[in-house]
Amino acid sequence: MKEEKRQLEEQIALEAAKKATASTEAQNSETWECSACTYANQASLTECEMCQTKKSTVKKSSEEAGDVGATWTCNVCTFINEQDDAACEICSSAKGADRPPEEEEEKKEDDAAEEPEKT
Ligand SMILES: [Zn+2]
Ligand SMILES: [Zn+2]
Repeated sequence: MKEEKRQLEEQIALEAAKKATASTEAQNSETWECSACTYANQASLTECEMCQTKKSTVKKSSEEAGDVGATWTCNVCTFINEQDDAACEICSSAKGADRPPEEEEEKKEDDAAEEPEKT
């Protein structure tokens, strides 16, 4: 009995998601494009398979007519960067990356690790 109910609930949720997608993006058949990495995800997914960007944060640029299409949000610090920037202005994370480039930072620290001369 419980199993049946859960299945029904899942189906209802799925249908609702389908309807929501269909009403807002009638031309978008079975996939949605991730704003962070442009990967085409299945319509049933709520976040990007590649970079886990939430679908709800994504709005088709065609729909917005370039209004919000000129920026991208950093997955690490949520700073909104210009579309031209390949990496976050604040934390230097690559566009679509979900973690900062730690290796590079470590290198820099290593470089500057020399003791300052005392005068
Ligand atoms: Zn993505
Ligand atoms: Zn950032």
